[in-house]
Amino acid sequence: MSGDPDRRPWTAQVLTLFPEMFPGPLGMSLAGKALEKDIWGLETLDIRGFARDKHRIVDDTPSGGGAGMVMRADVLAAAIDTARQGRPDQVGREAWPLIYFSPRGRVMDQALMRTLMAGEGVTLICGRFEGVDERLLEGRAVVEVSLGDFVLSGGEIAAMALIDAVVRLLPGVVGAAETLSEESFEEGLLEYPHYTRPQIWEGREIPEVLTSGNHGKIRAWRREQAERLTRERRPDLWARYRAGKSD
Ligand code: SAH
Repeated sequence: MSGDPDRRPWTAQVLTLFPEMFPGPLGMSLAGKALEKDIWGLETLDIRGFARDKHRIVDDTPSGGGAGMVMRADVLAAAIDTARQGRPDQVGREAWPLIYFSPRGRVMDQALMRTLMAGEGVTLICGRFEGVDERLLEGRAVVEVSLGDFVLSGGEIAAMALIDAVVRLLPGVVGAAETLSEESFEEGLLEYPHYTRPQIWEGREIPEVLTSGNHGKIRAWRREQAERLTRERRPDLWARYRAGKSD
């Protein structure tokens, strides 16, 4: 049941000041069942546990002044280095991608999720306050990733979004393989529209072709719709799709 038996569970390490937020929604539905089946694993590290002083301070005032607090590089580095120490059953975790969630980062997309699912795991740093000391990002070769062009109050929701998107790509999580391959972004297109019973709802009928039983026509209709939606809603994706087709 758990996909490829030779595959170790894909592991998400989450460094956060709020470990009690996890697994949260990731403990439910598809991701939750996969977690129970050990298709993936979750390790949360409480950043506060790596503070060295008796008050367990993880942040300090910004150099140069200004509002808010900045997370300390030394405390975060200690958390990262502990998280990535090799365990006997998982050597090489120091080579796992190390991601810091930030509005400055590259906006996450399906290609990133595919890359991550092909690896053994990922280390995720959730920021709070104004963010983290820049030297930490340089000193630990951190990749910055954003959930979108807006500001959250912390990286935890972005971490949950990333983990959810990766986990559903792991073998054995989503039922039929074709469910994934036809989804939005997988072929560079948005997905076609879906319908289900009743046949007529508030005077609106299911498009006739879908009840025709002609699978060739259905496939062609869905492709047309996917192309139309992508062209109308996401000219950026459409341009890339067209360029990809012509070469
Ligand atoms: N001062 C920062 C915002 C800090 S918000 C700025 O202006 O860029 C606090 C934390 O929330 C950040 O450290 C980051 O980890 C997280 N966060 C905020 N917006 C995010 C986004 N769009 N994507 C991913 N993480 C985000």
